[in-house]
Amino acid sequence: MHIPIPFNKPYFSGDEARYIEQAVRSGKISGDGMFTERVHRFFEQERGFQKVLLTTSCTDALEMAALLLAIEPGDEVIIPSFTFVSAANAFVLRGAHIVFADSTALNPNLDTSTLENLVTPRTRAIVPVHYAGIACEMTTILAVADRHSLAVVEDAAHAIDSYYRGQPLGTLGTLGAFSFHETKNIISGEGGMLAINETRLGARAEIIREKGTTRSAFYRGEVDKYGWVDIGSSFLPSDIIAAYLWAQIEHLADIQGQRRAIWQRYYAALQPLLSQGIGLPVLPDYATNNGHLFYLICRSLAERTALIAHLKGRGIWAVFHYQPLHSSAYYAAQHDGRSLPWATHYANCLVRLPLFYELIEPDQRRITDAVLDFFHMY
Ligand SMILES: *Cc1c(COP(=O)(O)O)cnc(C)c1O
Repeated sequence: MHIPIPFNKPYFSGDEARYIEQAVRSGKISGDGMFTERVHRFFEQERGFQKVLLTTSCTDALEMAALLLAIEPGDEVIIPSFTFVSAANAFVLRGAHIVFADSTALNPNLDTSTLENLVTPRTRAIVPVHYAGIACEMTTILAVADRHSLAVVEDAAHAIDSYYRGQPLGTLGTLGAFSFHETKNIISGEGGMLAINETRLGARAEIIREKGTTRSAFYRGEVDKYGWVDIGSSFLPSDIIAAYLWAQIEHLADIQGQRRAIWQRYYAALQPLLSQGIGLPVLPDYATNNGHLFYLICRSLAERTALIAHLKGRGIWAVFHYQPLHSSAYYAAQHDGRSLPWATHYANCLVRLPLFYELIEPDQRRITDAVLDFFHMY
């Protein structure tokens, strides 16, 4: 019997414990210490982000976005149905009504061809999700947002170090939200980041992140006392979290190279499946690949269920995800009744294969052989 292959194994550079100890010895392990500063500087000075703030999760970054945009009860927000619950929940917490968009036939990203039909006088924001780190078609999204004065919040949870026509994902919209959860490319266990791409929102973002106070400006010496000036919450992570993250950012190029190599090997080995009508990821020419995840699209739910069981029988852990939010237990009754066939299709038929830094070639061959064998192509 083979040793089981897990679905995910968190990356570990080996420097994490040393940096955490440095953070502890620095005497400042609450938020915005030396490692948080380093992470902020990396994105702002080396990656072309205008302003970033580390948060305790991507979920929190999205909740900050909803506060920052002053979303109110009755406002409408357009979100793809095929995505993680946090994108919708952050706005539902502010009383917004979610208008769900379908995915494209090409890949699970938001279908921009019908986007404008979803806009009403109450629409305030569009939340594209760059699924698998592959960019949404941002030109149309930004044009629709511009025509109707809507904010764009990019859910870039999958999309670290990925680009749309050369621009980093997360910097194209009004705001961008990243995740450093242990299932993502670079991690801190739990963790996230908000990218603030409009200067006018920067000062208020700091206040919302610091419990509605001017503490950030106070620490910089810009005000002589700090006080309560707005609503907010506690969104900044301990510097211990930032220290862990910094130990990963230092290895970002290596991590991305390795993940992309694994992705490419899957893509090459599984080409024969295309002739059977099994779908593989599609990368439009405006998008880059950051090797975040690799998926297959089966032809039916029954086929996917059988494939996952077949792989499990060989000690390989493959998973599916995203129950469509428009038909979820919590929101189905509030959805307007439109069917979203592509969201439902991906929810039923998409399967993710193991993809992590330490996945060695012989194990990956075991996975591709098992998949091809299932489809009688081996
Ligand atoms: C992981 C993920 C989130 C949530 O990230 P957390 O950091 O766990 O809060 C949000 N959206 C998408 C698309 C994700 O994959």
